[in-house]
Amino acid sequence: MNIEICLATSNEGKLREYREILAPMGYVIYSPKDLGIESDPIENGTTYRENALIKARDLASKVPFPVLSDDSGIEIAALGNAPGIHTARFAKERGGYAGAFEAILNELKGKQDRSARFVCCICYLSSPTAKPLYFEGVCPGSILDAPVGEHGFGYDPLFHSIEANADFGTASEEIKNRYSHRGKAIKALGLYLSIKG
Ligand code: IMP
Repeated sequence: MNIEICLATSNEGKLREYREILAPMGYVIYSPKDLGIESDPIENGTTYRENALIKARDLASKVPFPVLSDDSGIEIAALGNAPGIHTARFAKERGGYAGAFEAILNELKGKQDRSARFVCCICYLSSPTAKPLYFEGVCPGSILDAPVGEHGFGYDPLFHSIEANADFGTASEEIKNRYSHRGKAIKALGLYLSIKG
């Protein structure tokens, strides 16, 4: 069984994690780049779901496969749950992840509460006109005192997962996928796809 799906992302880290979990279940995950397609719509939604739908709809109109999109972010309690849906932009505006880490660590200086969570919302569209289905996952944790490790991607070096009892910057792929927001959302999607047949 080889079921082809296109994932609306240019983020290599996200793509790798979808493939790690879905390939053993018989899914072939393409990126828009693999198919020679451009899909970079303006993400002007106000929720993860709205942004996930914007990305899925744009891609679904361009490819002959079912599509997935992933909108995700990190929410830091002491920052009023920011950057949230603006997580990618937060790093871009600071020249990259090193700048984002510095800004977060400065904001948290002297604060007791370092709790944070990663959130992932997947939107699945089996065709351009299908009803969108959403699969979500949350990963509770905290912000470390300094970045550690080079595993994962994005904000992983700054994140300690409570459930994994591990820092995502040094955790194995297997551990991250077992406990992460994305791992949970992808597994819920996988269950749906296997039941739907
Ligand atoms: P977007 O979903 O394209 O808006 O981007 C979400 C951003 O959140 C990514 O670019 C990463 O910076 C961050 N992010 C989402 N998931 C993870 C993760 O699993 N680890 C680290 N950073 C993440």
